[in-house]
Amino acid sequence: MKLAYFQKRNRLKRYGFSILITASIFSLFILLPKSYFHLINSQTISLLVLILVVTASSWYGGLGPGLLATFLTTAINYFTLLKIDPLSHPETGDLLISVVYIIVGFLISVISEARYEAEFQKDEFIAMAAHEIKNPLNVIKGYAGLFQKKFKTNSKNKSSRYIDEINAQSDRLLELINDLLDVSKIEVGKFIYKDELFDFYSLTEEIITHQQIVSGRNEIILTGSTHKIIRADRYRVEQVITNLLTNAAKYSPQKTPIKVMVKGKKEGVILTVKDYGIGIPRSEQKTIFKHFYRSGKTNQRKIEGLGLGLFISSQIVKHYHGKLEVKSSETQGSTFYLEIPKNY
Ligand code: ADP
Repeated sequence: MKLAYFQKRNRLKRYGFSILITASIFSLFILLPKSYFHLINSQTISLLVLILVVTASSWYGGLGPGLLATFLTTAINYFTLLKIDPLSHPETGDLLISVVYIIVGFLISVISEARYEAEFQKDEFIAMAAHEIKNPLNVIKGYAGLFQKKFKTNSKNKSSRYIDEINAQSDRLLELINDLLDVSKIEVGKFIYKDELFDFYSLTEEIITHQQIVSGRNEIILTGSTHKIIRADRYRVEQVITNLLTNAAKYSPQKTPIKVMVKGKKEGVILTVKDYGIGIPRSEQKTIFKHFYRSGKTNQRKIEGLGLGLFISSQIVKHYHGKLEVKSSETQGSTFYLEIPKNY
């Protein structure tokens, strides 16, 4: 369960779920034929019900709903189920059983909350560390840029090559840090989207032109076109397309082409990116969209990366109710399929 999902739920949903699950499980028992009551009245079954209801509530909503479920279950158990067969549950023991129920429920809720808290602190730490690293890195990049301009006249110079390398590696580091920052924002539900109208095809053209300048290792061939204007965050959509293009180049041999096709459809736009690279095994074609997941093939070949790009992209696409899928064969490369509705 992701923290983001938990945080995105409002109080009404979280507490409502707790009440609903408690009520439905108990009504299920009440609706059961009377002949089953000897089973229900067994304390083991009742305790299992409590564990089930409290675990589900605290898993879905955290500490508060977990405690609410604990008290509801204990109260229902005390006032109804225990009374159905008073002989097997003497009054004197009822209170003690209720105390045990409350302790068990409380422990489950607290453990569940602690897990959320630890996850939250981890995300906060990553966000803080990434932010702190970004500042000095930007200074390094600034100076490297200045030196790059100075040495431009003599590009064969050794120092000029070193400066280029510092610049390229700083860019790479900045990308990794930005990815980490994005993931931590997604996790805590603070990923912000701007609302803009823009021409999808022009954006794709711009990205391809830029990609060809910064990395000429593969030729990118653009086909198709559309005049569709879509409503989304231009920068975030750019992030998705750039990720697909850099991956296509990263996981393909040098000089093999990358084919991009853009098409408009009634309700939105479609973009496909086809490469002739290492491909993705069928068993991993869904898991590569999970965060930090990298295919075994990639690890074997020691290709750099954190396994975050596709996760971030899929979250962006999901936000716009679009589609991001892959078809791949290990001998013929991969084709990524992106679909974004126009959203207006
Ligand atoms: P990264 O590239 O930094 O590892 P991504 O999230 O962008 O992170 O990709 C996740 C994994 O998916 C990659 O590690 C790689 O195994 C696989 N992958 C993505 N794109 C391609 C591609 N075009 N060809 C082959 N494998 C790919």
